[in-house]
Amino acid sequence: MDTILIVNAGSSSLKFQVYGVAGGALNRLVKGQMDGIGTRPQLRAQGSDQKSAIDRTFAADEVADLPAAMQRAGAWLREAHNVRPAAVGHRVVHGGPAFDRPILVDDSVLTQLEQYTPLAPLHQPNNLAPIRVIRSLFPDTPQVACFDTAFHRGHSAIVDRYAIPERYHAEGVQRYGFHGLSYEFVASRLPEVAPRIAGGRVVVAHLGSGASMCALAAGRSVESSMGFTALDGLPMGTRPGQIDAGVVLYLLGQKGMSGAEIEKLLYYESGLKALSGISNDVRVLENSADPRAGFALDYFAYRVGLEAGRLAAALGGIEGFVFTAGIGENSPAMRARIVRHLAWLGAELDPQANAHGPAISSPGSRVELYVIPTDEELMIARHTLALLATPERWIGAGEGRDGVSRPPNRAIDGHSSPSWSTRSSSTIISS
Ligand code: ADP
Repeated sequence: MDTILIVNAGSSSLKFQVYGVAGGALNRLVKGQMDGIGTRPQLRAQGSDQKSAIDRTFAADEVADLPAAMQRAGAWLREAHNVRPAAVGHRVVHGGPAFDRPILVDDSVLTQLEQYTPLAPLHQPNNLAPIRVIRSLFPDTPQVACFDTAFHRGHSAIVDRYAIPERYHAEGVQRYGFHGLSYEFVASRLPEVAPRIAGGRVVVAHLGSGASMCALAAGRSVESSMGFTALDGLPMGTRPGQIDAGVVLYLLGQKGMSGAEIEKLLYYESGLKALSGISNDVRVLENSADPRAGFALDYFAYRVGLEAGRLAAALGGIEGFVFTAGIGENSPAMRARIVRHLAWLGAELDPQANAHGPAISSPGSRVELYVIPTDEELMIARHTLALLATPERWIGAGEGRDGVSRPPNRAIDGHSSPSWSTRSSSTIISS
């Protein structure tokens, strides 16, 4: 069976999944991650057969960086599962102004994606590192970059613009929006799970350790709570969400803080963690009797409600509201807190249904409420398969169009191309 490897690389973790491709259908075979890269590396992974699992720790210098993590994970995939991926799909946070869809990576695409590093300095380099490693070792293995920003690139000019001089906009200081792969997946599930609202106006709340919201009109993104970076919008585990830019000026000018110190404050020391003084994890806060924990949870729900108002205004009203990601999928209590702030829209929760989902609104609710689990990795696998199966899409969008995207090296699941070479990509995971 052909397989596709999905890679989602962060600063200290490498998440991976392997999908089998059979009859055009994708079937998850393996899911795993290496955490604590460079500090306390731990590889945990499991096959869908529930049998072949690994939970192994390493010395810090054994897995010092992302390439080393890929080697360890790859060796295990090959030994335990005989995985020989025909293609690799990557999550890449930033596609800049140019890329409005996934793209097959070649040298010129990689160069362009590197140029977006200033737009996402904490994430883009980590996302690109595995692509570069695989490309240098196995240049014939097709790799597809899937962007968190791409799903939002259809926003109107008004939505994308900050009211600052044009020259900054032209160099990329725009509202992008993130979590696009998650929203795209949820939008793809709506016709099945919630057919009455799928073609209508729906707000989706992706509430995880990173949190954002998206306004969907007939399944397309028209507005997002996030903007230039993933700092905007909702409060998150350790990020404050929307904050007056004057606060940053104050910290710079009056407190003498450096850019790096402010970055640390805004990315790692704010949000639920700062509000509660206890934890960034909603599970911990929900189990705490400390009033600060309750305050943090109320604050989060209030801000989701405020954002719902903003997005409902963008849509001119809503027919549906969807919860997804770690908090949205797993916390009935937080969903109940949030729906209280949606009552003015006519939303009414069914408390029994809220315990399980997917439909959680009462019969009389004017807004249909749902819980729809997201699956960003499956979305990447779908894109990777679709791109490789459709030669006319090998060339990317916008500035990425250089006309020289190379075809993949081999067919997947019978989707053949006469120019595809026969070189096996199995060595990726044995290196
Ligand atoms: P990410 O992918 O951004 O790391 P997730 O979507 O996995 O985030 O969400 C992680 C967060 O979800 C955790 O920090 C925790 O706050 C929350 N979470 C997970 N499970 C539960 C649960 N059962 N109840 C409440 N919150 C939960």
